[in-house]
Amino acid sequence: VRMEERLYQNRYMVDEGRPHVRIHHQAEDSPQLKTLTRICPAGCYALDENGRVQVAADGCMECGTCRIVCQATGEIEWSYPRGGYGILFKFG
Ligand code: SF4
Repeated sequence: VRMEERLYQNRYMVDEGRPHVRIHHQAEDSPQLKTLTRICPAGCYALDENGRVQVAADGCMECGTCRIVCQATGEIEWSYPRGGYGILFKFG
């Protein structure tokens, strides 16, 4: 089974109003933050009309990439979703 087909089997529970990934914007978005618009496997990051990076954590697969990439810049606040929310992986 291809990776894409596996991903389609997962479900995502949105915790309304409690995003588990937030951006702390600095005066300018760092190059690291900007790369997230290309490397987040769930496509959670995008540029807004002002060219700033924004995140919509719905669908986040909790891979941790954004947290690690921006560890030094301090722009990403990241925590696991509350129990029952977030990605529900289907195993097997
Ligand atoms: Fe995207 Fe992974 Fe960060 Fe979730 S943890 S927003 S899937 S890079």
